Amino acid sequence: MITEKEKALKNGARSIYDMALETFDRAADLLNLEWDIREHIKYPERILIVNFPVRMDNGRVQHFEGYRVQYSTARGPAKGGIRYHPNVTLDEVKALAFWMTWKCAIVNIPFGGGKGGVVCNPKEMSQGELERLTRRYTAEILPLIGPEKDIPAPDVYTNPQVMAWIMDTYSMMKGYAVPGVVTGKPVSLGGSLGRDQATGRGVFYTTQKAVEHLGLKLDGAKVVVQGFGNAGSVAAMLFEKAGAKVIAVNDSKGGVYNGNGLNIMKLIEHKNKTGSVIGFPDSEPISADELLALQCDILVPAALENAIHEGNAGKINAKIVAEAANGPTTPEADAILEEKGVFVIPDILCNAGGVTVSYFEWVQDEQHLFWDEEQIYSMLEKIMKRAFDEVLNIHLKNKVSMRMAAYMLGISRVAEAVRLRGLYP
Ligand code: NAD
Repeated sequence: MITEKEKALKNGARSIYDMALETFDRAADLLNLEWDIREHIKYPERILIVNFPVRMDNGRVQHFEGYRVQYSTARGPAKGGIRYHPNVTLDEVKALAFWMTWKCAIVNIPFGGGKGGVVCNPKEMSQGELERLTRRYTAEILPLIGPEKDIPAPDVYTNPQVMAWIMDTYSMMKGYAVPGVVTGKPVSLGGSLGRDQATGRGVFYTTQKAVEHLGLKLDGAKVVVQGFGNAGSVAAMLFEKAGAKVIAVNDSKGGVYNGNGLNIMKLIEHKNKTGSVIGFPDSEPISADELLALQCDILVPAALENAIHEGNAGKINAKIVAEAANGPTTPEADAILEEKGVFVIPDILCNAGGVTVSYFEWVQDEQHLFWDEEQIYSMLEKIMKRAFDEVLNIHLKNKVSMRMAAYMLGISRVAEAVRLRGLYP
């Protein structure tokens, strides 16, 4: 079956991976990166495509295609989530693995970058079918993964239960429990406290730094959140706690607005109960386009890729865009935001809190010693704020955008590792 995305690519549209490589080239030029190193780190190290059978509930066998991409293992094991979605393509998985590589280097954790995906529609599958698909996919990519080699995690439509099945399948093959093979596991299986808040917290900590840098105040600041899921709702809750007014949020079904600030804890309860933010008392409905154009201090895109594009970037009326989502801004939109003087906290910095606490999970699993939430949040805050300062310094010193500065930091760290390790054989 050819997906809509593949059709668009066949019609000549630039793929998300093409756009990613363009960004790499611009950052590598700014770094004057030598040719040998550039060629070494620009492309994925290893790609595995698997085609595998799963017995469905109706007794028939269905074939699925899956991928695992290890973009870089220069600084440590590959690290990155597994996505289950009907629109997954190898191109997308490569782009996601590419982002993971620089993200891990920016927060300076000892991981490379990876990502996986299976073309499937989990919304139409039973738990039993999902479990059989997960176990077989794990068996197919088994030669690649392991706590020292490549550590998967949840991504779109995969969750702690899926991670538990991966951990179990891998452990059965080894003959003993290996919790460090995946992160994002249930806490009772070696998952980390604080993982569910990690991405939203990272968004909050980096935005705190941006607010400080720009001489603004969080107290009374107006915040708009596109996408009220895990990352968006946690960030919204922390902004509200810090005295900001979250005036609008939306999800895939619609949006809600209150100029005096929405009550976020009640909104989370409402969404848990009804499945959407729509119909929340004390709010008016707002369309997706209107929400993005609202006058505000902080806009948090926390939904999908390419949400801010050439067609709507000119209408954005925010001082700070804090990219909780991966790839929410197209390169064309990025140029428009830069021209308008919007301060962008780029995704590979802003949403790195998730992988940082995944790193804490892996460390805890490997040492069999577990930390409390307070310790995790305090270490996360330190790492996120240090990374922000490092990116900001490059931004100010080299007069480049925050996004370019983040790429320059990530790429230079991976380049340094490759340079020091030398060329094998
Ligand atoms: P999630 O599934 O919990 O939430 C996504 C939310 O976006 C949902 O509320 C959904 O209804 C909403 N949404 C979907 N389409 C939308 C649209 N067109 N307009 C408005 N809202 C829409 O996912 P998440 O884990 O919060 O991830 C959100 C983004 O953050 C993704 O890009 C993801 O890759 C990125 N991210 C997440 C983590 C993490 O740890 N959760 C880490 C790094 C990056």
